[in-house]
Amino acid sequence: MKSHFYVKCLDCGLEAPYAPLSVNCSRCGGEWREARYDYATLKTSLPQKLRERPFILWRYQELLPVHAPNPDITLGEGGTPLIRATNLGMMLGCPNLFIKDERQGPTGSFKDRQAAVTIAALKEAGITEAVIASTGNVAIAYSAYAARAGIKLWAFLTSLVPAEKMREVAIYGTQVVKVTASYDQAKQVAAEFARQRGLYLDRGTRSIPSVEAMKTVAFEIAEQLGSILGPSQAASNGNANPIPWRAPDWYVQAVSGGLGPVGVQKGFHELHKMGLIDRIPAIAGVQTEGCAPMVHAWREQSKTARPIRSPKTHIATLSTGTPGRTYTLLQERFLQGGGGTFESVSDAEAFRAMHVLAKMEGLSIEPAAAVAFAGLFKLLRAGKINSTDVIVVNCTGHTMPIEPIILGKGWARNVVLSSQTAYDTPEEGLLAALSRVTEDKFPKVLIVDDHPEARRLIMRIMQSQGNYTLFEASNGLEAIDLAQRQHPNLIILDLMMPEMDGFAVLDALKENPDTADIPVIVVTARELTAQEKQRLHGQIESLMQKGGFMDDELLNEIRSLTK
Ligand SMILES: *Cc1c(COP(=O)(O)O)cnc(C)c1O
Ligand SMILES: [Zn+2]
Repeated sequence: MKSHFYVKCLDCGLEAPYAPLSVNCSRCGGEWREARYDYATLKTSLPQKLRERPFILWRYQELLPVHAPNPDITLGEGGTPLIRATNLGMMLGCPNLFIKDERQGPTGSFKDRQAAVTIAALKEAGITEAVIASTGNVAIAYSAYAARAGIKLWAFLTSLVPAEKMREVAIYGTQVVKVTASYDQAKQVAAEFARQRGLYLDRGTRSIPSVEAMKTVAFEIAEQLGSILGPSQAASNGNANPIPWRAPDWYVQAVSGGLGPVGVQKGFHELHKMGLIDRIPAIAGVQTEGCAPMVHAWREQSKTARPIRSPKTHIATLSTGTPGRTYTLLQERFLQGGGGTFESVSDAEAFRAMHVLAKMEGLSIEPAAAVAFAGLFKLLRAGKINSTDVIVVNCTGHTMPIEPIILGKGWARNVVLSSQTAYDTPEEGLLAALSRVTEDKFPKVLIVDDHPEARRLIMRIMQSQGNYTLFEASNGLEAIDLAQRQHPNLIILDLMMPEMDGFAVLDALKENPDTADIPVIVVTARELTAQEKQRLHGQIESLMQKGGFMDDELLNEIRSLTK
């Protein structure tokens, strides 16, 4: 059968047919090769074909290293939603912030793409046994697809992987090998095992099907953005047909081995080559501070990343300490192509971002995915990403194994019924038990603003990162009344309100000895005149500009005033 693709050696340029078990270039012995397709033909034939296909990964089959999609193996992988992050966007001042919700893949992470394409390629080649090393999610995804395909799988897991994830791997029938060592060492053990037995080994960025699978994230984003935002201005070249797809300005992802960014970058590159998008987006790779070899190398403007021998992070998913040539490849491509950057965040910053995503957007994500969001916050604050940019964040994985660590104590209230009480006098026992479900004593904060959306935004920001009992007032009189009755620990006050404005509210609060001592933060939509500032002098604790305030600024102020 004539193949629709071939592999090209990145070192000597040799072009050859693909066979899963041959991993070296036959001319130079190099291990770094990439798939190539007939882009000139696909440029015109592909858009036509796509019109008739469902929105799953296999709609791009002509650009994948599998000859025919296998209906017996698929779990409906790919085709995940691109969600606009309205609340988070409002908090950050980013109107075009999108989340590629890879949690909605068959096993809950974007590793499903890698597993689906690889297992299909192995099945096609008649391979019946395979080996992987993993920090958890790759093993889970591979296990599901290997089970469907009847392929025996060996998963070498670093002992850092949470037990819940290990059990999830095992239930699919995969043979789990727990390696009490770092992830990089577990990879070496797996490689040696595969070599001795002559088995297929997933080698991350050096594995053709793995890189090719990750491209589909880029394809989907470009199609989805095109239909949500319309094609980009620059792309509608004169009176010719506008290019229907659209590249974001930024693709943000948490990075471990770097397979995602390499694949996604290649995907956008191929779309650009076929004229379907007008440029290649910048990529932001985010790592944890305790395991950030790529970030260090990027800051030092070095072509090679120095290995981190013992990663110091609770986030096992991101514990690749030796990225090797993958970093070099990414650095090269960021510098010559659409650009990009690397950033690191602490575990604590990631855990906080988890709370923000859950409470503001209703997305329960795993710590590794939260690393991407924490990185985005940092890059926006530093001005490296502009708030007006079209930004897509890869959101993958689920929270299940980590909840005890990040939630701390006291997250549930208990109702305990003695079986005797419940049996004799069910109502009485229940009521008595419920009366013990007491309200906690959280700081009380009164938010005064005539615009409901403005109040809601402040409430969301506060609820996302702390415990407060919140009161709202939509006008001055209500504010004074609530202040007298509730004695809040803090008042957040808008100045511009009809009838009784913020200045008048302040005067009334300060005249009454009951409310005179309550600290006040004023938020205002416009610059104040010198005279207005004079009026506030000595009356308030701080003054903040409305809109675009980053979460930290307001929260730090609130925290220090409600101590
Ligand atoms: C695998 C994984 C990553 C990192 O992926 P790479 O592209 O291989 O660096 C990030 N987040 C989650 C949840 C993952 O499963
Ligand atoms: Zn070669």
